[in-house]
Amino acid sequence: MPSPEPRTIGEAVEACRLRLRAVSQTPWLDARLLTQHVTGLDASSVIAYGDCVLDRIRRKRLLELVERRASGEPIAYLTGKKSFCGLDIAVDKRVLVPRPESEELVLSCVEELRGTSAVVADVGTGSGALACALAHFLPDATVIATDISADALELSRWNATALGLAEQVLFVHCDLLTEVDASIRFDAIVANLPYVASGAGAELAADVRAHEPGVALFGGDDGLDVYRRLFAQAPAHMKPGAALFCEASPQIAGGLKRVAKDAFPEAAIEVRNDGAGLERILICRLTQAARHAAG
Ligand code: GLN
Repeated sequence: MPSPEPRTIGEAVEACRLRLRAVSQTPWLDARLLTQHVTGLDASSVIAYGDCVLDRIRRKRLLELVERRASGEPIAYLTGKKSFCGLDIAVDKRVLVPRPESEELVLSCVEELRGTSAVVADVGTGSGALACALAHFLPDATVIATDISADALELSRWNATALGLAEQVLFVHCDLLTEVDASIRFDAIVANLPYVASGAGAELAADVRAHEPGVALFGGDDGLDVYRRLFAQAPAHMKPGAALFCEASPQIAGGLKRVAKDAFPEAAIEVRNDGAGLERILICRLTQAARHAAG
């Protein structure tokens, strides 16, 4: 942080912004979020109390966090949380930081199942962001969330409990759907699986590459390995008329669509764009019988 040493909250925000100007694309936002975090103030209070003195301990803490941010650590790992669909999701380096584009997956699934008592799977739940958001917006639904990482499940369970959703979201420690009871048939399966091609690591943002868990990012040579395995397991767990919602990137959307067509020859397959106009969601809708409505 440049001298003179900041004395007030407002000066601290400005000093952080200057320190992060060359290293972050959002120095002003980062500075405010870190200051909010160390002061416990909300966004508007950080501005309103800009002239108040920031005590020495908090200043030191802020300085440490700004230096970690300057060395590339994602802001959400520093503050320990990320807002997703309006919910505060706890995050740390055990899980991928939930992305705004993944909110589109929630919207698509909720749009389809609103008002029903559906049974939904969130495969590869990570922080539990998708599972918790689905449970929140579909209060009569049951969500089964799986993950291969016991560490991730510990955090996702914590999130469901903190959000008061523990009775609605059930967690299974397994690879994709392998340990989900064979008798369970879902109305929808939602999946944001690792889909970055192993050779495409260099295309990821430097802070993603350096800090986020590779197991949640990389999906083999063409990025589709984990989805291929899910597509082999999913049909046995889907009701007639059920839908599978998968997050993709524009780089893999075409390949994912081809793989889905092979795996679900009878299904209606659609690719939707995200808010930025990029191909982001693949939906495979099984044919036949109508989905049951809520009782
Ligand atoms: N959207 C992430 C990224 O490119 C990748 C997420 C994933 O592989 N599921 O940063």
